[in-house]
Amino acid sequence: MSGKTLCSKEIERYDRQIRVFGVEGQIKLKKAKVTVIGVGGLGSISSLYLTAMGIGKLVIVDHGRLELSNLNRQILYRTKDIGELKAKLAAQRLKELNPNVDIEYFTEEITSENIYDFIKEANVVIDGLDNWKARFIVNKACVELNKPFIHAGVHGAHGQVLVVMPGRGPCLRCIMPQTPSQREKIPILPTTPAVLASLQVTEAVKIITGYGKPAIGKLILYDGYSMSFHEIPVSRRENCPVCGVI
Ligand SMILES: [Zn+2]
Repeated sequence: MSGKTLCSKEIERYDRQIRVFGVEGQIKLKKAKVTVIGVGGLGSISSLYLTAMGIGKLVIVDHGRLELSNLNRQILYRTKDIGELKAKLAAQRLKELNPNVDIEYFTEEITSENIYDFIKEANVVIDGLDNWKARFIVNKACVELNKPFIHAGVHGAHGQVLVVMPGRGPCLRCIMPQTPSQREKIPILPTTPAVLASLQVTEAVKIITGYGKPAIGKLILYDGYSMSFHEIPVSRRENCPVCGVI
């Protein structure tokens, strides 16, 4: 089917969400391209939802191979897949879920040079990473290309989400001038990335369809230990080396 209409099967598949944001919203999703960087705990969930909901094109970037210790939370994968490239496995699995979605994958490690190839077509970029160095590369490239970037990070039963809308709110560098120190193996309660990735997709779908109000200018904190959400108002730093010049 063309990108301008939905066939009867698509109307049926997406019935419940069309009741939320209408056929027009669904057509916007069908025309949209999203890049998910990292298909681990966060990216497993965000790529599953984006595919299930009928995004037009999904680009997946991950250079890692599946390990036994990933399987408690990276629910895209199966035990028999251990040792395989995650981006390739993810693309196969997601295609089975929804053949309407155009899926492209890259298995290179992100650098400040190649990042532009992965995000140039994207309407929204989603953070599924587990390290700050790569996150700041993505943040900078998204600001430069004026792409919405939805950050999430997790630690134990805690996590945070920040929607970066270049020029309209703070970027990741505005709120974290110093790169946080990080342990090599972050403790993670497996449901934590699922919660945060669901929030990321909610925001991505809102930005694409125009439904609702994107969470710009606030850092959302999730505390699964005491089960609460907090939001901290955040604003742009004039001297931010990344977005201070735009
Ligand atoms: Zn900034």
